Amino acid sequence: MLEKEIAKRRTFGIISHPDAGKTTLTEKLLLFGGAIQEAGAVKSNKIKKGATSDFMEIERQRGISVATSVLAFIYKDKKINILDTPGHKDFAEDTFRTLTAVDSVIVVIDVAKGVEEQTEKLVQVCRMRNIPMIVFINKLDREGKDAFDLLDEVEQKLGLTVTPLSFPIGMGFDFKGIYNIWEKNINLFSGDNKKNIEETIAFDNIEDQKLDKIIGENAARDLRENLELVYEVYPDFNQGEYLNGNLQPVFFGSALNNFGVRELLDCFIDIAPAPRPKKAEEREIKPNEKDFAGFVFKIHANMDPKHRDRLAFIKIVSGTFERNKPYLHVRHNKKLKFSSPNAFFAEKKEIVDISYAGDIVGLHDTGNFKIGDTLTEGEILNFKGIPSFSPEHFRYINNADPLKAKQLAKGIDQLMDEGVAQLFTLELNGRKVIGTVGALQYEVIQYRLEHEYGAKCTYENFPVYKACWVEASDPKNEEFAEFKRVKQKYLAKDKQGQLVFLADSSFSIEMAKQKYPSVRLHYVSEFN
Ligand code: GDP
Repeated sequence: MLEKEIAKRRTFGIISHPDAGKTTLTEKLLLFGGAIQEAGAVKSNKIKKGATSDFMEIERQRGISVATSVLAFIYKDKKINILDTPGHKDFAEDTFRTLTAVDSVIVVIDVAKGVEEQTEKLVQVCRMRNIPMIVFINKLDREGKDAFDLLDEVEQKLGLTVTPLSFPIGMGFDFKGIYNIWEKNINLFSGDNKKNIEETIAFDNIEDQKLDKIIGENAARDLRENLELVYEVYPDFNQGEYLNGNLQPVFFGSALNNFGVRELLDCFIDIAPAPRPKKAEEREIKPNEKDFAGFVFKIHANMDPKHRDRLAFIKIVSGTFERNKPYLHVRHNKKLKFSSPNAFFAEKKEIVDISYAGDIVGLHDTGNFKIGDTLTEGEILNFKGIPSFSPEHFRYINNADPLKAKQLAKGIDQLMDEGVAQLFTLELNGRKVIGTVGALQYEVIQYRLEHEYGAKCTYENFPVYKACWVEASDPKNEEFAEFKRVKQKYLAKDKQGQLVFLADSSFSIEMAKQKYPSVRLHYVSEFN
């Protein structure tokens, strides 16, 4: 029973640069699953620029993103969990963390814009973790780049090895359809998103003269030539290579027109991995182990500022999670029971009695959890791989209302647990520095401290170039002692108590590396 349920699960994320079509694709996938009835049902979690200020917009979006955090549906007897990832670059860390909970990803690329900045960053993180990836090149109904040029770009800029599993026939105004290499058939494009799903014509042999009649002689010749080149240049699809993260299948289509989406989904459920094993510091955990283990990858503050309760998102790594059963909160060494764990279905969440490895459950939390926390049936486990990356912006945070110092400390503490930003405490004088990926977060923090905790803060600039986590190959040696003495002003502890060097320039990092070769500096908090 357990094995069967787990084998049914496909938990993945869709990543893209904003506007490539992630929301549209998500919505079409949900339509196939029958999870929603109409287009336009999935709210975009995008930050819209407009009349309201950006951070107010974020507050508004917070409600939406709770609803879209996990979108689950059943398709062909598979339980599909889509984990939502914010596209806005100021929330990149949130996306990085969500990527620790997915078993595979789909990368959406705009046919006209090609590989964009945010896609590069996110794919790099997926590559580091060998996450299996499928690429979907979107908006083929528009004029865009040549298909081969795009495949080249994907290989070069993203460092992937691609194998096209479909290939477009024409593009933009001349877009006639797609040859599905995976299923060996042609889908004709009619521009009518209700009709084109049925217009699939099987073509086992691409030389068949019927092709000329259907798409015209010129298009048929071009397609034959293109496919010949595809077969010649690109490696054959190999599932093992895909699962190891060494080979990435590519599909072409138009999400808006629901074109090429069914093909993507059908191939996805054939090839994408069921829940994968995950490494803890102690050992590797397999999904089909009987005992439950899971970790927190996201914490969402409730919309009701008066209650301050939060929803902690747990990825179930192994076994089953059951309602009202006591589980060990490893960091607190304390057993906790949950009377109303939420499971997610389409855009609804509901209380469930049992969830399986691969699923996500949302647990109500009043401040017990922070990102990376592990829950188990009793075993001491600590899951690896939720690293912090160096923030881009750094500011001192000061208390603006001396009577509310306690509230401020508590607020900062909880917001950092949620992963809104990173806190560094200077070694020299204990001053607190907030590091963020985007400047927007400072406004969010200030606003939330005031509205949820009744505390006021001000910021002060602190010119830091990058935060480097410090690793001393020999903590007792003289060189490390000297490094600490000389750099005293620039040293801080992160929230885990790890030593961090807040370097003011790339030059000072280089100098430090040369001068203190036994002291290693990392831009990521996890390095072993
Ligand atoms: P996201 O930011 O990645 O979630 O992108 P959205 O799904 O919100 O799409 C951004 C814009 O591109 C919207 O205006 C969509 O209607 C449009 N779009 C999405 N897919 C297609 C497509 O296949 N063709 C065309 N022409 N437009 C599309």
